[in-house]
Amino acid sequence: MRARGLVDYHLHTRRCGHAAGELEDYVRRARRLGLSEIGFSDHFPLLHIQDPSLSMALDELPDYVREVKDLAARVSRPRIRLGIEVDYVAERIRELTEILDDYPFDYVTGSVHFLEGWGFDDPRNLDGYRGRDLFSLWELYFQVLGDAAECGLFDLLAHPDLIKKFGFRPRGSMRRIYEECLDRVAAADVVVEVSTAGLRKPAGEIYPGEEFLRLCRERDIPVTLGSDAHDPREVGQDFHLAVEVLERVGYREIVSFERRQRSFLPLRNAGAKRD
Ligand code: ZN
Ligand code: FE
Ligand code: FE
Ligand code: ZN
Repeated sequence: MRARGLVDYHLHTRRCGHAAGELEDYVRRARRLGLSEIGFSDHFPLLHIQDPSLSMALDELPDYVREVKDLAARVSRPRIRLGIEVDYVAERIRELTEILDDYPFDYVTGSVHFLEGWGFDDPRNLDGYRGRDLFSLWELYFQVLGDAAECGLFDLLAHPDLIKKFGFRPRGSMRRIYEECLDRVAAADVVVEVSTAGLRKPAGEIYPGEEFLRLCRERDIPVTLGSDAHDPREVGQDFHLAVEVLERVGYREIVSFERRQRSFLPLRNAGAKRD
């Protein structure tokens, strides 16, 4: 297991209504794997729809923050960071900024789960793929991802090619679309998450795919790691595969966040030791 010394910045909690386990269970699992740092990044309350199976309610946010900060004060191994996964919804940026500014987040993760109001990564909404032109769907997704990078709210972009989740892929090269998106991500200086969650989904591969990651590397876009665990057993899952692809495309370090400041941890020293 090559998770030792690494970070897992994408953990959910039962508050979101679709995850299992107590915070302590996630911590125990992380400690067993030898992760040096974990970050809780539960789903920020959705402002445009109310669905208790998707996120906590807005009035729970202070409790979430307190719970993670208390844990961070008690636990030193692994270090615990306070994150939050926020849906990019263009009309809500100002409102989101005001709310997020009130809390001591170590990092804010941006996710694109909605395109024109359609929750495309929700298995309940699979119908939406029917009859769609996949090329223009991907084009739209990566435009919106670029918008998310530029909106100024986010330190980190989660599961950057989530649009592949259910395995609906356009024919032909996506390279130009990736490049246009990543030029914007690089200019906005936002970190990209390498997420092992895609391996557990029909897509069957890490988010992002290797070509996308290579294009990140060419632009010197920093990266970090996440499992998107919704169960303690998923913490650090398949991180050896993430380290493998990161090294192959030339990454040597990953980002650590504290109070929205970055530092870097070496990938090799971290990953090379075995437990
Ligand atoms: Zn979730
Ligand atoms: Fe997500
Ligand atoms: Fe998530
Ligand atoms: Zn996620």
